[in-house]
Parts: sequence; structure tokens; C-alpha cells
Amino acid sequence: MDKTSGDEAKQISNSTDKVRLIRFFREGTVLNLDQLSGVGKERQRLLSKLQIGNVEDLLMHRPKRYEDRRQFWTPGKSPQATPQQVLVQGRIMACNLKRIPRSRKSVFEMLVETPAGLVRCRWWNAPYLKKKYHKAELIMVFGRLVQMNPVTLEHPETEKVDSAEDNSLHMNRIVPIYPLTDGLKQRALRELIWKALHQLSSCLQDFPKLEIPGIPGMNTVEALLAIHFPDELPDALKARQYLAFQEFLVLQLDFARRRAALHSRSSLSHEKITGKLCRRLIGGLSFVLTPSQQKVLDEIKGDIKSTVPMRRLLQGDVGSGKTVVSAGAICDVIESGYNVVLMAPTEILALQHFRTFSQWFTPLGIDVRLYTAQSKSTEFFEKSNLVVGTHALFEAGFQIDRLGLVIIDEQHRFGVGQRERLLRKGKSPHLLIMTATPIPRTLGLTLYGDLDLSRIEGQPSGRGRIRTFIRSSSRLPRIIAFVKTELEKGRQAYFVFPRIDQEDAVSGLKAVEFHLDPIRSELEPHRVELLHGALSSEDSESVIDEFRAGGIKVLLSTTVVEVGVDVPNASIMLIHNGEQFGLAQLHQLRGRIGRGVHDSVCIVVTDKRTSNVMERLQAFSETTDGFKLADLDMKMRGAGEFLGQKQSGLPSFIFGDLVEDADIVLMARKASLQLLRNG
Ligand code: ADP
Ligand code: MG
Repeated sequence: MDKTSGDEAKQISNSTDKVRLIRFFREGTVLNLDQLSGVGKERQRLLSKLQIGNVEDLLMHRPKRYEDRRQFWTPGKSPQATPQQVLVQGRIMACNLKRIPRSRKSVFEMLVETPAGLVRCRWWNAPYLKKKYHKAELIMVFGRLVQMNPVTLEHPETEKVDSAEDNSLHMNRIVPIYPLTDGLKQRALRELIWKALHQLSSCLQDFPKLEIPGIPGMNTVEALLAIHFPDELPDALKARQYLAFQEFLVLQLDFARRRAALHSRSSLSHEKITGKLCRRLIGGLSFVLTPSQQKVLDEIKGDIKSTVPMRRLLQGDVGSGKTVVSAGAICDVIESGYNVVLMAPTEILALQHFRTFSQWFTPLGIDVRLYTAQSKSTEFFEKSNLVVGTHALFEAGFQIDRLGLVIIDEQHRFGVGQRERLLRKGKSPHLLIMTATPIPRTLGLTLYGDLDLSRIEGQPSGRGRIRTFIRSSSRLPRIIAFVKTELEKGRQAYFVFPRIDQEDAVSGLKAVEFHLDPIRSELEPHRVELLHGALSSEDSESVIDEFRAGGIKVLLSTTVVEVGVDVPNASIMLIHNGEQFGLAQLHQLRGRIGRGVHDSVCIVVTDKRTSNVMERLQAFSETTDGFKLADLDMKMRGAGEFLGQKQSGLPSFIFGDLVEDADIVLMARKASLQLLRNG
């Protein structure tokens, strides 16, 4: 493994990690925090805990909410009978510090005479305040109303009313409330951001007003002012949209530039591509391609013939038949005298592809190899036309001779950085990415904005129906009896558990190893075996092979079978602890069945019937449409959660929200293309 790989990957991920508006200020300039007065080492340390490392970060520290501190409170006049927080102004009538006997506690109280009547302010354990407030001072107070009789505010914020100046940052205006960290106070941070905005707005490169439909024209500085210190709340909302647009635009411009930079020519010998190999492959299949598969294959073949390297995303729901389409593409590339690498996210899937491709290609005289973490040598690559492997492929430090096409299966599992690294194994190879994760359009544009899209619609005909049931575990005996009758008819089943060997009584989480023996005896004489991530490669290899061959009837498994596994004879998917799984994952798991002619049944077992869980499972049982489920899933969980781990390669937006801002993403996409066209 080459040493630089980790750093390199980190670099790539950092650059896409946080979409930076800095580029809109001044290309390449980072303004250090110590350029702001009043920011010493300690402040910097505290700020760094909030991921604030420079002035741009500070300006982009987004308020989590606002408090409207403009109206003095008049009891009874407020829209709410008892508002939570109120603003009053008046003179201090009395101050009093009470020590609580036999404890170290104290309470400081202050009476303020206001037009709203006498207001009591109270602070616990803050004896030092005694020195801060003095009788007869004019003061403004904003705080939580905890009691009406007498009117009492607890731990309010105060500000002495200075007759000379009344443009306070903290009172008499809409006030931003920021995410904080221990040791850093709301007021201090507010003052710092104010300072940054004013002290530095002069150094910020003048950026022209962007005209965005539906969002008033402003420039970055105006937008930042409005997001931090809006005159009216709608101003903050508009500024948020404006800044979101900019964030999306930065990213889309990046994509557009990356596309435009693909001048490097694909070096395949196009004249050798006759399509003969592909026709032999397709002709030898036991089925015919669906019109949609054929259309997508034609699109890909067109790309391969072009001199610009292909960058294409192939989307198709689970079971739609993406593998065979990729095989067609492989044929053309090999015909031209070039080689192909295919990467899958799990060893199980890599092995399955290796088996499938060997079966299709070996008779055609094409050499297929498997490369996983266990493979010791990369020597054989020189002779191989097609190498199938896992991520071990890009970790290994080798170059692939005459690499013409890189295929990445189930792309959502790999980050952008990883895909770039694999491409660098050759000279401008074509890239085909396949995914069954149905990605809502906005997310697709954000994750794969630099790719062309092909989509396989629907499923091959002749597939059985899939029905889905939600059941509690008390029904398990009946479920097992049903499974047994299905096994008797020759079908096979997956039983999925969330854990390997750590059963958890409190949460009720089931571990697959604990259930092997009981299930074996219940299902006798049918063969039941385990499959999970802790098995050795050889063991899981033989288990999955025997399951595919039909010797093993039931696979007791963890979610290692989640992606890609294709055993058409399996018709039952039994998922334990269904509450543990997100919609996308459930959909993938259910995608393991319904791949053959038989009717299939998916049973989700759960005893946690909270409204949240039931909403999800209900939706799951009502549709098998991956796109509908994905949209719903993203709305329920937000985009980041929807994609799961960081390695998803999804940049984190500060102002943008992929769920809310579909329109803005599209506008940014359009604008980026326009900007690039106009130079
Ligand atoms: P996925 O799109 O989920 O990767 P696969 O490529 O694994 O799906 O295909 C699922 C199954 O459907 C495989 O067994 C494959 O051989 C089969 N298949 C693919 N295309 C067709 C077709 N046109 N007609 C019938 N079966 C097909
Ligand atoms: Mg697949």
C-alpha cells in the first residue's frame, strides 16, 4: 500500500467537504482570525471548536435562530398570553444578593420599574453581579418570563441604556443566536462577527450582485450582513437563499470546470470496435435485454466510441439488470484492445461479479481475474482483460496497462476521492458508475453533477410479485411455518439480523449467531448457514456459492447481503429488528428477492412500534418504487443522514439545504453552465 494514499484521500475529501464561499471573496486569500482585534490564542482555541479557523469561517457561522428584541413588552397585549421571552426597559429600583444558608448557593435579585410594571430579575449563583448593577441606572432587560405574579425574568440579558448611543448589537433589534461552545458567550461571538463584518467588508473583494429569480439581487457582503443582523426576519430568509445559491454555484462551477477540463483524449483504438463481441455475449444470454437496458447500453457504447472520456452514472433500481449492461460495454472496450477494471463495495459482491463475468466471458476467450484484500500480487494484471475487485484495487500501488474503462458498482459506497484515484491508474480511461440507490434529483446533481445520467426504467418482465408485511415477533412461529412450506416448494430465504454475536436484551437487538441452532432445528432437514462480516473470505465465498447453487436453503445473515447479491431463486426476505434499518437499506434488502419468476415475500419483524418506525415501515410496505422511497427517506432524515456516512462524498452546506432547496440547486446548475459558456 502506498504511503501517500491516506493523505491524498483526505485532501480530496477536505476540498469537497465544506463548500467555501471564500472563492467569492478573493481567490486563494485566507484571512486569519488574529487580524481581528480582540482575538487572542484562547479565543482562537475556542473558535476552532466551532470549526472556525479563519475569518471566512466566522462570517459563515450561521445563526441557529433569531430573537426579535424590538418590541417592549406590554402585559396582556402580546399575541401569546404569556410570551416566553420579553423585552422591558426601566430604572433599577433595588438590588439584593441573598446567600442561601448552609449551602454555597446564592441568588441575586434586581427590581426594575418599567412601563409594564415592576419586573423582578433573578440570577442564581452569580454574586459578582452585585458590582455590575446600581440603583437608578436605566437598563434594558431581555429574558425568559418564568412567573407572572410578580413578573419575574430569570437569567436575563441586560444592557445599560447609554443615552449617547443606542445602536446596540444585543437589544432593540433582531438578534442572532449562534451555536456556541463552552467558554464562549453569545454576546462575545456576536460582537466578534459584527466586528468581522465591518472591519473586513472593505477587504472583501467587490462581488457583483447576482440576479437570481425570486431572490433579490444582493452581493455577498450584503447577504452576510442580512443573515447575521437582519433588519426584518424575511431579509434573513432571503439572504439564506442567496448564500445557499452561492454554495450550490461554487460546487456546480467545479463540476462544470471538471467536465470542461476533460479534453484529454480517450486513447482507445476505436476503429477496432466492431460490436461483434458484444453481439456474441448478448446472443448467448438466456434472456433478451429490455428496451430500456438496450437504450442505456447504446448510450454507453456511444460514449466509448467518443474521444472524450465517458463520465456516466447508470441508475437502475435493484434487480433492474445493470450488470449485463456493463458487460456489453466491457466487450467494446476489450475489442478495442484495452482492459477493464470493475470495483465493487464488498467482497461478496466482487466475488459474485467475478463468477458472473467468468461465466459470460471465459467462453469468449476473455481473461477475468479477481482482486481483493487477500490477493497478494498484481502481476497477473498484465495478462487480464477484466479485473474485478474491491476497494483493495485502489489501495494497491500499481498501474494498469492499457486501462480503457473503470466501472464502479454501487457508487454510493465510494467517495469522489476514491473514484478519482482509480481513474489515475490509467490514462484518461472511461468511467461508468452504477448505483441502485435511487437518488432524488437535487442530491444527484450535487453528488454527481459532473456525470451524464442513464437510467434503466422498470424491471425485466416475467418477474414474480413482491409482497411486504410488517409483523411482530409473536408471529414468528407462523412465519417460520410459512417459510418451511416455501422451502418445500424449492425456494430459498434470507433471514437478516442487525448483529453478529452481541445480543442486546435492553434494545431487543438480535444477533445472528444466537439463532442458528434453533432455526436449524425448526427448519430441518433444510440446510441453514451463517454469513456475516466476521467470516473469513474463503468461508463466506463457499457459503455464498452454495447458496447460489441451491444447496444451502436459508442464509442467516447480517446486512452483508445488502447490496448487489443476486440469487434469483431466493423468494423470502425476513428482516429482524426492522426498526433498526432506514428506508434505503430496507429497500436494498428487499431487492435481494423478486429477482426470479417466483412470487416473493418480504417480512419485516419489529416490536418497536413507535410512530416514527411505523411511518417508515408503512411507507415501505406500500411501495416497491425505489425513487418514491428515496424521496420520502430524504425528507424524513435529511440529505446527510439519507446517504449515511461521510464517505458518501456529499459536501456539507452551511446555508444550503438539499431537501428544501431543490429549485435553487437547479438554478445554480443552470447559472454555472451559463457562466462557463460566457467565460
Ligand atoms: P442490479 O441492477 O440490481 O445490479 P443485476 O444486474 O444483478 O441487477 O440483475 C438481476 C438479475 O436479472 C440477474 O440475475 C440478471 O441475470 C437478470 N437479468 C438482467 N437482465 C435481464 C433481462 N433483460 N431479462 C431477464 N433477466 C434479466
Ligand atoms: Mg448490481
